[in-house]
Amino acid sequence: MYIVMLGKPGSGKGTVGKMLSESLGIVHISSGELFRSYSKKTGKIGEEIDSYIVKGNLVPDNLTIELLEKRLLETDCKNGAILDGFPRTVLQAQTLDTFLQKQGKKINIAVELDLADQEIISRIVKRRVCSNMDCGEVYNLEFKKPKVEGICDKCGSKLIQREDDTIETVQQRLKNYYETSAKLAEYYKKQDLLYTVKFNLQSNKTSKDIAQEIKEYLNKEML
Ligand code: AMP
Repeated sequence: MYIVMLGKPGSGKGTVGKMLSESLGIVHISSGELFRSYSKKTGKIGEEIDSYIVKGNLVPDNLTIELLEKRLLETDCKNGAILDGFPRTVLQAQTLDTFLQKQGKKINIAVELDLADQEIISRIVKRRVCSNMDCGEVYNLEFKKPKVEGICDKCGSKLIQREDDTIETVQQRLKNYYETSAKLAEYYKKQDLLYTVKFNLQSNKTSKDIAQEIKEYLNKEML
């Protein structure tokens, strides 16, 4: 099964995607995490990717598609994948459809997490992530605090703020979202694949509740 996670930066795609990955037993692939793992390495590709990420701009389609297709050909993706942050442009979505079709596969559902801009900004600037890339646990200084300040509950590594989680960069990322990525909801709606979860931070709906709601929908519609 292939699930695409759509939504603004900081809407919870990663957290909910990882929960779905655990309960459905399908690998979770975050394009942002994949890019950050390249940008940690020295070399031309890493530097190129970094130059886009730090400014809050999208990595060009050709490079994004090349790296994501390479990742999707790895053996852990043979039963499908939860795609978090990819596709982000209509061209990426069309190319992904063709790539999967050639293997007799397809996207089964696109889940959109819908959270208002003001809540996105306040959530992102309070986000902290585990510096250990193999762990990558995500925290929030208000809603999901670590037990010991600055330390990951799961692996004990230091928590850091992502370089692109500043107010200025988030505003640029939201601009990109409206100009480019927002079109994807329509793209998947036309194929009757879109499932939207609208929520706000006051509603007390946790990521766990959202993952559960999506799982119930999947059980009803396709499992
Ligand atoms: P994320 O971790 O999903 O918030 O992504 C972090 C950054 O990686 C984004 O702001 C973009 O610069 C880049 N990125 C992630 N996924 C894509 C994509 N599908 N296409 C282009 N750029 C991307």
